Amino acid sequence: MPDWLVPLSDVRFTAAEIEAVTDTYRSGWLSQGPKVAGFERAFAASLGDGDAVAVANGTAALQLICAALRLGPGDEVVLPSLTFAATAAAVVHSGATPVFADIRGLTEPWLFAAAVEAAIGDRTRAIINVAYGGHPGDVVALSELADAHGLALIEDAAHALGSSAGGQAVGTFGRAGAFSFFANKNLALGEGGMVISTDPELTSRMRLLRSHGLSADTWARHTGQQRGYEVLEPGFNFRMDEPRAALGTMLLDRLAGDNRRRAELAAAYVEALRAVDGVEPAISAHGHADEASIQNAWHIFPLLLDSALDRDGFRSYLAEAGVQTSVHYRPLHQSPAFTTPDMAPLPITEAYARRTVTVPLFPHMTEAQQGRVLDAVADAAKRFP
Ligand SMILES: *Cc1c(COP(=O)(O)O)cnc(C)c1O
Repeated sequence: MPDWLVPLSDVRFTAAEIEAVTDTYRSGWLSQGPKVAGFERAFAASLGDGDAVAVANGTAALQLICAALRLGPGDEVVLPSLTFAATAAAVVHSGATPVFADIRGLTEPWLFAAAVEAAIGDRTRAIINVAYGGHPGDVVALSELADAHGLALIEDAAHALGSSAGGQAVGTFGRAGAFSFFANKNLALGEGGMVISTDPELTSRMRLLRSHGLSADTWARHTGQQRGYEVLEPGFNFRMDEPRAALGTMLLDRLAGDNRRRAELAAAYVEALRAVDGVEPAISAHGHADEASIQNAWHIFPLLLDSALDRDGFRSYLAEAGVQTSVHYRPLHQSPAFTTPDMAPLPITEAYARRTVTVPLFPHMTEAQQGRVLDAVADAAKRFP
């Protein structure tokens, strides 16, 4: 692994947080139990609404939502192509077909109602909004569109823990929202995920399917609440374990502070980039009528390069300066996994994906580290026209 001076993301834990994990190992109970239940309650309370179901990872969260909604063969789900592979894979694994729609614009890289509406057909059952980079995008308009067409809105909120629009948490606008606690996400457990929903029928079905479709879990049997179980339907093993739930509960306490620090660093990037020709923030904080009501968790900080800039040269220059970069994302509709011969082009997604570069952002990033990134960006923008 190269020794980056400024890695794309980084995690740090306090002694107390690590102790919460080691205490759990000492307690003698590891699989889904009271600590998972506690994490779910704290998580739901932090979002202000709904019932939370903890799972093994964010992909499992999306799969569980698709399964609980009974999506299957013949059904179509409209989603952006500009997302992580898991968003579309969850649809495919349910048996349904992903239908990709374009993003609103080059500095508004999220799904929008007109593109979704054009993609809706007789077989459409659901829409997935991805809160790209943490920005809620057009989630309010998409939830209205879903209601108007009798479709389920699913939120892939993997980037957006702590984001909100009009005071309402991202993840709570649709039928269900999925979160990820992967090692580079805003709340990092290594692996882990959560579903949130206000629909009790959906959450009870998700609890059932999360653990093999069993009528009673191991903890209930351990504590003598239940003696046996019935297998009610074929399910999954999508459970979270106790040590990660213990850590997750601790990390929830500092999430708001971590996200505030991310927002400050993002604002400093935006300010400094005004002076750099050929590079602008891809998620603009300006020009949206409703921007004042939006809180962005700033999971990542993507740039948009001028179309004349050589992106590979730009990224290599930053790498040589010790700055790690990434691309979020290569479009799924052009990937071997999801492309089909008759797939329509998505011009804005394709242009955006050619021109975007993600630069480092994490809460304990120092001023010196951010200065190094900005210096390298300004130099590279001059060298690779
Ligand atoms: C991380 C991520 C996921 C998947 O989460 P895992 O916990 O890694 O399974 C899904 N969608 C998006 C947009 C993500 O960034």
